[in-house]
Amino acid sequence: MSILVYLESAEGSIKKSSLEAVSYAKELSNQIGGDVYALALGEIAESELTAVGKAGATKVVYAKNEKFSSGIIQVHAEVVAQVFQAKGAKTLVLAKSSLGDAVAARLSVKLNAGLVSNVVSLPELGNGFTVKRSIYTGKAFAETSITTENKILAVKKNTVDLKTDGAEASIEKFDANVSDSLFAAKITATDKATGEVLLPEADIVVSGGRGMKGPENWGMIEELASELGAATGCSKPVSDIGWRPHHEHVGQTGVKVSPTLYVAVGISGAIQHLAGVNSSKCIVVINKDPEAPFFKAADYGIVGDAFEVLPKLTQAVKAIK
Ligand SMILES: Cc1cc2nc3c(=O)[nH]c(=O)nc-3n(C[C@H](O)[C@H](O)[C@H](O)COP(=O)(O)OP(=O)(O)OC[C@H]3O[C@@H](n4cnc5c(N)ncnc54)[C@H](O)[C@@H]3O)c2cc1C
Repeated sequence: MSILVYLESAEGSIKKSSLEAVSYAKELSNQIGGDVYALALGEIAESELTAVGKAGATKVVYAKNEKFSSGIIQVHAEVVAQVFQAKGAKTLVLAKSSLGDAVAARLSVKLNAGLVSNVVSLPELGNGFTVKRSIYTGKAFAETSITTENKILAVKKNTVDLKTDGAEASIEKFDANVSDSLFAAKITATDKATGEVLLPEADIVVSGGRGMKGPENWGMIEELASELGAATGCSKPVSDIGWRPHHEHVGQTGVKVSPTLYVAVGISGAIQHLAGVNSSKCIVVINKDPEAPFFKAADYGIVGDAFEVLPKLTQAVKAIK
């Protein structure tokens, strides 16, 4: 009764959220037994694959095919289903993400599997198989029981401790049989943000709002982000006006983040913004208005002018480093 983990990659590297899913699967295998197989698709360096063992995988199943790299949902779902069946797995674990959601939904149908998304803890096995998941954009939890034999768990990012003490995994090649008709959708070009930390994956995020006054002042946000190894984000109006690209827009209608540290600069803390950040582990707010609603959600608050506070904060980070 093995557990299969579906790995997502970007630029030839396995995503951190997928490694967290592997660590979750390892903990789960301690409860229910079985090997942890991790499935990688596309073109990925072998050293990157063996390193998945450190997060807890026993073996990496590698469906090596350049055509799988573009992340066509139907193709990934088909390959995962084939490996799931070949390995006699009963549980599939993956990271909750836009690609993960789309693949998991299809697999739920293909494998007749109960699917729970946004999982934040290991299952309770005393009375069936009940998992806790985050709902209402992180404002509440629900407990959901899966009654099917096959199960799919999509784990919320940054909620699992990433294991790094496992042994290197062995690699087993898998020859997937995928019909050409599944390649009907073609990704002809992708707009890649290179050299930056990806916002949905980031462990630290520095975000700016309208209080930054204009795009010409974003150098301060970027400098602090660079010193912290952080991704940059922004509020919705900031991307609507065109000060920052839309993929940086954080909130209910934008990217939902759950970093270890979220630094909000000149953002008022409207409920729609908070909906995207409220599962951050630590929130630091910099705002000149002591009544700004964001302070109610903050772990640390600095009441002050961003244009004075940011350079000092960046200097302080540099000094510590
Ligand atoms: C359906 C719907 C969906 C929405 N979805 C989202 C969403 O996903 N994400 C999102 O962000 N918003 C969303 N919004 C918009 C949201 O309601 C707020 O309008 C928006 O978040 C406010 O952005 P802001 O905080 O940057 O700007 P403002 O509300 O203008 O706040 C600017 C803040 O900067 C502070 N400030 C000004 N100058 C300085 C300074 N020099 N130093 C320090 N602080 C300063 C001010 O005190 C103020 O608190 C949505 C709205 C609707 C209706």
